[in-house]
Amino acid sequence: MNNTIHPKDKRLFSIDDKPQEECGVFGIYVNDEDINSVAEVYSGLYSLQHRGQNSAGICVNDNGEFSCCKNKGLISEAFRENALEELPNGKIAIGHVRHSLQKFEDDDFASVQPLLMRYIYGSLAIAHNGDITNKAELHKQLAEGGAIFQSNSNAELISYIIASMRLQTDSIEDAVIKAVDMLEGAYSLVIISPSKLIAVRDSHGFRPLCIGKMRNSYMISSESCSFDSLGADFVRDVAPGEIVVIDEDGLHSYTNYCHQKTAMCIFEQIYVSRPDSVLDGQNVHNFRMNVGKILAEKYPVEADVVCGVPDSGSSCAVGYSLYSGIPYGIAIMKNKYIGRTLSMDNDSMRKRILDIKINVLKSTVKDKRVVIIDDSIVRGGTMAHIVELLKKAGAKEVHVRVASPQFKNICYYGISLPQKEHFISNQLTPEELCEKIGADSLKFITVDELLSCVVDANIDFCTACFSGEYPTAKPAEFYDKYSVKI
Ligand code: SF4
Repeated sequence: MNNTIHPKDKRLFSIDDKPQEECGVFGIYVNDEDINSVAEVYSGLYSLQHRGQNSAGICVNDNGEFSCCKNKGLISEAFRENALEELPNGKIAIGHVRHSLQKFEDDDFASVQPLLMRYIYGSLAIAHNGDITNKAELHKQLAEGGAIFQSNSNAELISYIIASMRLQTDSIEDAVIKAVDMLEGAYSLVIISPSKLIAVRDSHGFRPLCIGKMRNSYMISSESCSFDSLGADFVRDVAPGEIVVIDEDGLHSYTNYCHQKTAMCIFEQIYVSRPDSVLDGQNVHNFRMNVGKILAEKYPVEADVVCGVPDSGSSCAVGYSLYSGIPYGIAIMKNKYIGRTLSMDNDSMRKRILDIKINVLKSTVKDKRVVIIDDSIVRGGTMAHIVELLKKAGAKEVHVRVASPQFKNICYYGISLPQKEHFISNQLTPEELCEKIGADSLKFITVDELLSCVVDANIDFCTACFSGEYPTAKPAEFYDKYSVKI
């Protein structure tokens, strides 16, 4: 198996070649004197760190004066000692953690969010999760009208459109509504105007966004786990297509773009979101347990222990164990503290990194028939390594079960996947892949089986990277236009 990463794809892989989470957004409108907006956003971002590790930032509005603190790296790196103390305790604040869709080079600081823009109606700060599918066209259109962009980010494009629309409308709400009319694709946004906190979710609801409340203060977060961490109450999800505006009069909802066909990313449930989050009614841990049960029902095997590849494979393994009666065991230990900037230019470096990242508990698997469950297989290298480690540790048999269908198509809606010709499932049949990774059996869940695991959600799902059924028109020449040169 050729595990050398194509130069175009280097930016798209984590060390264990998983699809990459994109971004997390958080916002607060404070109505309680003893709540510090910056401290709450900082804590809220920590609960979203799994969604992006490239950069982090906070922007605060103190009576119309906007201040930002942001930098590259994890939250602990981005906010150096005392950095946040320089931010005022304003009434409204937003934050962002980012995994870049773009090549993240030293000169890319202009894309670190939240973005703070100043225009004729004051300041505007914005943080975005998702990917705009018509951004190349919008970029071109605006640039031809004289717009100057400092970055290649969706957030800058969106804020520019909102600022332009504000010139044609009487309120920031109307400007956002008009801007949304121009945007296609995936966007969950938090925005600060001089006096308002605004949350926007695209009409498909690709990425999650929800509302919480701590006493009289409102919060917006990508995931509900933030509210648990902060001791706040979950109020509800922002509905697909909804624009929520929070100001001194409370919360206002604009539903102009609601009630269209929804398509939340199923991969949020499989891998991206934290298991303690509830997304549009569906508890993520329960969904993964259901996936494990379905895998046990549809793809049974005689075995002595069932184990998950952490983190998201673990809930699936518990479900498999409960349904099959095969004892659950912990076999895979992952080192989460590997530097994100290690070069993976060749196979031997990649293998060394995997050796550092993954270890096997021999006592769990020695002389046993093992079922191992992972959330997905993109290129296959990591699973080949895990099977090899399990067998070296004395496993008699290794049966691989995968909690997502085979990746066949790229994602246009904000999940970093490689070029589709690099998906292992576009190169090998499951039988060939099984042989290649050295497993005794290999089974993928199907799209229909996956959807049957959704029992509580009040939303429909996108499965395009597996099924090829895209919920929107495909952007033409997506990746070429992505870096449009103007
Ligand atoms: S294409 Fe796949 S990863 Fe992208 S939004 Fe749809 S389900 Fe999620």
